[in-house]
Amino acid sequence: MSTVVVLNLTSSGHINPTLPLVTELVGRGERVIYYAIEQYRSLIEATGAEYRPYSHPEYLVPKVHQGEFFGSMAHFAKAAQVNLPALLEDLEQSPPDYILLDSMCIWGNLAQQIMKLPAITFSSIFIMHPTMKAEDILDMVYSPRPKEVVLKGVQSLYRYFEISQEINEQYHCKIPSLIEAFSNPQDLNILFTSRKFHPFSEMYDASVYKFVGPSIAPRPGTIPFPFEQLKPGVTIYISLGTIVNDAVEFYKDCYQAFGNRIERPYPHQVILSIGNKVNPADLGPAPDNFVVMPHVPQLEVLERTSVFITHGGMNSASEALCYGVPLVVIPHRGDAFLVAQQVVNNGAGVSMLPAQASPDTLHDAVEKVLSSPAFKQNAEELGQSLRSAGGYVKAADEIMAYKSEIGLN
Ligand code: UDP
Repeated sequence: MSTVVVLNLTSSGHINPTLPLVTELVGRGERVIYYAIEQYRSLIEATGAEYRPYSHPEYLVPKVHQGEFFGSMAHFAKAAQVNLPALLEDLEQSPPDYILLDSMCIWGNLAQQIMKLPAITFSSIFIMHPTMKAEDILDMVYSPRPKEVVLKGVQSLYRYFEISQEINEQYHCKIPSLIEAFSNPQDLNILFTSRKFHPFSEMYDASVYKFVGPSIAPRPGTIPFPFEQLKPGVTIYISLGTIVNDAVEFYKDCYQAFGNRIERPYPHQVILSIGNKVNPADLGPAPDNFVVMPHVPQLEVLERTSVFITHGGMNSASEALCYGVPLVVIPHRGDAFLVAQQVVNNGAGVSMLPAQASPDTLHDAVEKVLSSPAFKQNAEELGQSLRSAGGYVKAADEIMAYKSEIGLN
């Protein structure tokens, strides 16, 4: 049995996929210590792991970054700077045998370097290959974005380099480069996706990069949902995830596009998850074919979904594909553009920019996906590649194999 410390970002998209893996590791006898923020304590404790709070959780609350990729890097660099001292003190007091770190967790990368501990990276997003160049990143993530976003990104990058310099000088270490900041490459890297879904997957050496598919397990039924209200027939599910979900106008457009009204009947039922930043009253009365909730049990909802309108979060897209659900992707930020591109490249759905979303375009996109069986078929094929990759059990197997390779019990 070894002691492992998990260092992760603190949003559902990054934490959710680790929970089944941590449960599996605990089941195999590992002692898991998981740093997070209070909001995730009960979920983490339910896995059998020990929850430990970060010292400055206020720097870790997920934000929508104006400068997108580089904006999030600057945010995480600052979070690393303020949280590292207490984290290092903790780790030095009782060093773990190894670290599990998220591909975007800068403080995890730094703690690994400073403590010189073995580490394994896991990633719930598409990553960058170490041989990629800065211009590849710019092309991949900023080319579809307006000039203002690119400019904000450049400002954030400046901030990132400023903070990097301070951190490097203080700890005599090397903060992740532009490429490393989205991949944290270690000797073993576990990717919660399939080669078929990941861009440029042929670049990734199979002995170092393990594509295990999404790490999904049934989530204990904590979120109530009126499943008895759902009728047989087509169900449209709409969610913008847990971060970029402050979108009153978009939700109103959905009411218009898909609302069943006397003057404009609509035959399908709709489930709309609006998150906790929007007051449902601000949307006006919900059409009678809508179920509107701040948070839904997404996996159970997807089981009953015919088409999913999503912001293209990696987890949401992967979860839907695992259930063979075709997508309408409306990417709002960074990695969602890549997700949208991969969904379209695989023929598993369509994509539109947020600025293009209107009641008419939303309605037409859903009709397009529903009326062509190829979208469903391709979603099922992509889902098959994700499901058959092994998931969290395979991830735990890889971790155990790596541990014995480096002489850990
Ligand atoms: N989610 C959920 N219910 C909701 C909305 C989201 O359970 O009503 C979960 C979803 O299943 C996924 C995560 O929250 O696991 C969202 O992660 P994603 O990467 O898709 O987007 P993010 O929230 O990070 O933007």
